[in-house]
Amino acid sequence: MSRHYRIGIGGIAFESSTFSPLHSTTADFHILRGEEIVAGYPYFENGTFEGREDVSWFGTLKARAIPGGAVATASYLEMKNELLERLEAVLPLDGFFFDIHGAMSVVGMDDAEGDLVAAIRKLVGPNCIISTGMDLHGNVTAQEVENIDIFTAYRQAPHVDAMETKARAVHNLLACLDSGTRPYRAWQRIPVGLPGERTSTFWEPGMSVYGKLTESDVVPGVLDASLWVGYVWADQPRNSATTVVTGTDPDAIAAEATKIAKRYWDARAEFDFGVPTGDSDWTIAEALKSEIKPVVISDSGDNPTAGGAGDIPLMAQKLLAVPEIASGEKTALLASLMNAKVVEEAKAAGVGAEITVTLGGVNDPVNGFPLEVTGTVHSIHPSDTIMGGDIAIIKSGGLYILVPQRRIQFGMPESFDRFGIDLHSLDIIVIKIGYLDHEWEDLTPVRLLALTPGAVNQDIVSLPFQRVQRPFYPLDADMAEPEWAPQIFAPIGE
Ligand SMILES: [Zn+2]
Repeated sequence: MSRHYRIGIGGIAFESSTFSPLHSTTADFHILRGEEIVAGYPYFENGTFEGREDVSWFGTLKARAIPGGAVATASYLEMKNELLERLEAVLPLDGFFFDIHGAMSVVGMDDAEGDLVAAIRKLVGPNCIISTGMDLHGNVTAQEVENIDIFTAYRQAPHVDAMETKARAVHNLLACLDSGTRPYRAWQRIPVGLPGERTSTFWEPGMSVYGKLTESDVVPGVLDASLWVGYVWADQPRNSATTVVTGTDPDAIAAEATKIAKRYWDARAEFDFGVPTGDSDWTIAEALKSEIKPVVISDSGDNPTAGGAGDIPLMAQKLLAVPEIASGEKTALLASLMNAKVVEEAKAAGVGAEITVTLGGVNDPVNGFPLEVTGTVHSIHPSDTIMGGDIAIIKSGGLYILVPQRRIQFGMPESFDRFGIDLHSLDIIVIKIGYLDHEWEDLTPVRLLALTPGAVNQDIVSLPFQRVQRPFYPLDADMAEPEWAPQIFAPIGE
């Protein structure tokens, strides 16, 4: 029996640290509406998915932003209300693709995505099948599982499978519509909070723990097995690793969820950073000693790709304190210290002028501080990305400091191509990212991770948690293994 389906799409995809004093607002988001949403997916071809002519797609609102601090309540409500208004206008729907990241914190709320999907469910009613494809760094709550029929999540970090996962979420939605299936979900919280930097799937034990999910997929009665590392920089009760197994056989999905949870738990102490790690002084000393150049150091606590404020000047201060760098005998590059005022000052002074500026202490005055830097305006680069704005490069001694107008991520070596600075000519490159493999591995074999302060401090035990559920590993390092008893959610609409 063939019929025509009406499927809505929408969501707010954001990752935000509650340890950042810098709140995010609507202006930080890139928002797509209506038909722009479908046009933005690489896995839709000319508005169709898998060649299916029997589906009409209705984009509502899809917002995303560079990770940051918690979303201001009014901004969240503004985006939520617009999504719901657009959703109401396209009812009735047979299905809804809920496209989120899963780690959005909103000021004053404990479960933002749960709140959003509960409101969506209320509008679309129990007969609409909701499917989601999430980042594995999301925190998954009972409220979400109550309202979502089908879960899937990335299985690789870094997320080379992001688009494949989103496409799988849409594929699963259509499969359930075609077969008339409303699946069960088995949900198991795993009381472990680890940063993504330790839990990459490109080395062990992450590789095996995630690799084995495909074994659960093929168990009869299982549709999808998902495992979330979670988002650890959220001081909320929902913060934890989780597994959700979706399927038609409640016993089978419970058994698989237990296996997955236990496997992650058993590996908890083995997860480690993929590169040598130490404090800021140690990384700089190692870099100065290195025969191989350049040495790449990540200022990991202030990483804007995970939610850091992107303006903590600690590494700039430390580098400028090195006599060979201050004198220009050695060269280094630091990306970046966001500061709109300094960009204006550099523009006013002009390229080649000497200026004294104050960097840091604006976005994150809790973990950061103001640092006075005297140098020359090396160059000014007009905005060519959505998020970055104009970028000024200030050169002090041998240190190039990239100063963007807005928070920006310099995720790959090619991000620097447009600045005319040859990365291979430098002694030290300090970036603020989590993963130093792939392209960075191609650039240099010497990559170090500095454990620095910030909104995404990698030293989890040192964070001022007050509201996470205890016991929680690694805060309670000696806690006993939990009794695994996945909660089963009955098919929605029955
Ligand atoms: Zn992620």
